[in-house]
Amino acid sequence: MPPSESDGRDETLPSDRDARGEMLPSGGNARGELPLPEGDVRGELLPPDGHVHSEWSWDAPGGSMERTCARAAAIGLGCLAFTEHADFTSWTLLAARLPAGSRAEVTPDGVVVPADFDVDGYLECLQRCRDRYPGLRILSGVELSEPHWHARRTAQVLELGGFDRVLGSVHSLPAGHGRCLEISDCYRERAAAEVIREYLAEVTRMVTGSDAFAVLAHIDYPVRYWPAGAGPYDPCAFEQEYREVLRALAGTSRALEVNTTIPLHPQIVRWWHQAGGDAVTFASDAHDPDFLAHDFADAAAMVLAHGFRPGRDPHDRWMRA
Ligand SMILES: [Zn+2]
Ligand SMILES: [Zn+2]
Repeated sequence: MPPSESDGRDETLPSDRDARGEMLPSGGNARGELPLPEGDVRGELLPPDGHVHSEWSWDAPGGSMERTCARAAAIGLGCLAFTEHADFTSWTLLAARLPAGSRAEVTPDGVVVPADFDVDGYLECLQRCRDRYPGLRILSGVELSEPHWHARRTAQVLELGGFDRVLGSVHSLPAGHGRCLEISDCYRERAAAEVIREYLAEVTRMVTGSDAFAVLAHIDYPVRYWPAGAGPYDPCAFEQEYREVLRALAGTSRALEVNTTIPLHPQIVRWWHQAGGDAVTFASDAHDPDFLAHDFADAAAMVLAHGFRPGRDPHDRWMRA
């Protein structure tokens, strides 16, 4: 999939953004000033946070499993999953930069090679937290990057971890000359609409090409980096591509994740329901304890309005009503 030359390249992209989930949610408050999420969503508890990073993720130096559990207890969250990164793809940095303190090698050519996920150390830490917070349901988990490109290593990490929750994610795209680019950098070489289309096509290939994961993570990942110069983002411009992803996913009884790093456009959940999707999970994608269950009350209300309900087990996925 060769990149388009420089047509459509957006020179207005800010160069000081961190890639990989380190952006503040749009409209978010400064860290430390976040309000507590509402503990009650139309009479229901906050949904489980099914996608949280801790210090066991290479790009979450500010993460802390221990403090995240303390935060969960403080806000009345009953269940969360620590889904650490298992990234087997290496990518070339253009303007994106890694969060300070990230555990990744960057070669002289600017190729990022993330550190391996220390599954044993993670599982020991998880057990300590389970012992310390017996009232909190703590799921083990992993966020697989492009598992359809790395079947062997994916199988190895899953075997090692025996995880409760496995997320599938696309974070980068092939960019010619043997390179991959992180999605945030793809906008520098391709027209914005083309980035979205290629991302969604790759997500469809991941859904159809790998059965290693149970939840499709952040279908709106590239929207986090949508360039201001490209105008307001409208998912309806990509309806066909979204529907293709959702159709493929619905045929496999897997869940669609509602990631609250930025608010997910309700249209996506409407299309998921129409495609016959039967489950939804909620995800703060927090890389810092303060963002745990960020914006969950609003997200839960939006999902309720589009035909999904908490399951019988409050710690479970939300199901089609
Ligand atoms: Zn991700
Ligand atoms: Zn994540």
